[in-house]
Amino acid sequence: MQILNYTPEHEAFRKRLRAFIAREVTPNVAQWEKDGIEPRDIWQKMGRGGFLCTDLDPAYGGLGGDFLYSIIVTEELSYSFHTGLAAGLHSDVVVPYISAFGNDAQRKKYLPGCISGDIITAIAMTEPGAGSDLAGMSTTAQQEGDEVVINGSKTFISNGINADLVIVAAKDTAVENPYQALSLYIVETGTPGFERGRHLDKMGWRSQDTAELFFSRCRIPIANRLGEKGQGFLMLMQKLQQERLVCAVGAVTAAERIVEWVIDYCKNTTVCGRPLSKPQANQFALVEMATDVKLGRAFMEKLVADHMEGHEIIIETSMAKYWTTEMARRVADRAMDLVGNEATLEKYPITRAWRDVRVMSIFAGTNEVMKGIAAKFMGL
Ligand SMILES: Cc1cc2nc3c(=O)[nH]c(=O)nc-3n(C[C@H](O)[C@H](O)[C@H](O)COP(=O)(O)OP(=O)(O)OC[C@H]3O[C@@H](n4cnc5c(N)ncnc54)[C@H](O)[C@@H]3O)c2cc1C
Repeated sequence: MQILNYTPEHEAFRKRLRAFIAREVTPNVAQWEKDGIEPRDIWQKMGRGGFLCTDLDPAYGGLGGDFLYSIIVTEELSYSFHTGLAAGLHSDVVVPYISAFGNDAQRKKYLPGCISGDIITAIAMTEPGAGSDLAGMSTTAQQEGDEVVINGSKTFISNGINADLVIVAAKDTAVENPYQALSLYIVETGTPGFERGRHLDKMGWRSQDTAELFFSRCRIPIANRLGEKGQGFLMLMQKLQQERLVCAVGAVTAAERIVEWVIDYCKNTTVCGRPLSKPQANQFALVEMATDVKLGRAFMEKLVADHMEGHEIIIETSMAKYWTTEMARRVADRAMDLVGNEATLEKYPITRAWRDVRVMSIFAGTNEVMKGIAAKFMGL
């Protein structure tokens, strides 16, 4: 079943990226996982290879490709059993705020560096007291002349250590309605008053640098506001759909890779004189896991096609984010049980994959929040 129409150009891009990952990423993953971060130069190599921000206009140095190129990047990174290199977050979540809502000057200043990998980006919404509840943010942004002064703190920010540019959601305290008080600002990380806090020691996505960020009278030019004042919440709502879809693509591909790996393991591992793939209980488990990923792929690809055609798919995207990430967890869990002892050894990619998929139901909007959104839009 083929839902998405990949052209020979897409396939050539995938082949080139797969070779790049095998050469530049896979041999280094174990070290990056230990370091808790990836070196900046892998971003530049990705950029030079044409693998970042593939949708952006060639005028800025981009490929001008459709969303399928983004899907290929997320799939190939996920397929490699590696989640650390947050290219999808950079290319398909953060940079689109600049390309969609930025003015000419902002686009010219930042997009070429985002494409080349010289500028690594992050988005800072979450705060110690405000995760799911974006309206509960307390980071403030007050205009003083032609500058804006930001105060507050953010936490769990992906690319927080490597980032050169952070899109920060902050509110104007003079506006009472929390949904109208929020604006988005581009903060360059060299700005006085910006500081990085702890580099968080996570159980999964270990090679992705997730950090606390602090803003203490951090002054930025008013020209660094993205879009209109007070439109922050609307901009986030517009873009979060794509973030959740990319998350579903990553979850489905991770689950597929786990199933492929564990089938191979079961076929090639003998217990009591016969392959692990022969007992009927194991066969049923493997068939159920394979069915899960096929259902996930069909649903996800249909939504990618709808998204590319500009359809409103808030309900379905929320469903897909929660269902595919739970499915990936289910599949990873069963794979661990099928493998047994060996699955607990760090030498196997399944161990890392199990940790990595566990985290996916929490970020990009928790799965409970996804169900809440679906319920609201279903009129329940
Ligand atoms: C690895 C990782 C990377 C991240 N990267 C980023 C990033 O780059 N930028 C960023 O801004 N944030 C990032 N986050 C933060 C992430 O988006 C938040 O963790 C997420 O929004 C949930 O917030 P919370 O953990 O504070 O949970 P809370 O909002 O405190 O929720 C706690 C519990 O209550 C439930 N709950 C909350 N509200 C509702 C509701 N309305 N209905 C039903 N249940 C509810 C939740 O589902 C959860 O079970 C990242 C998190 C992780 C783990």
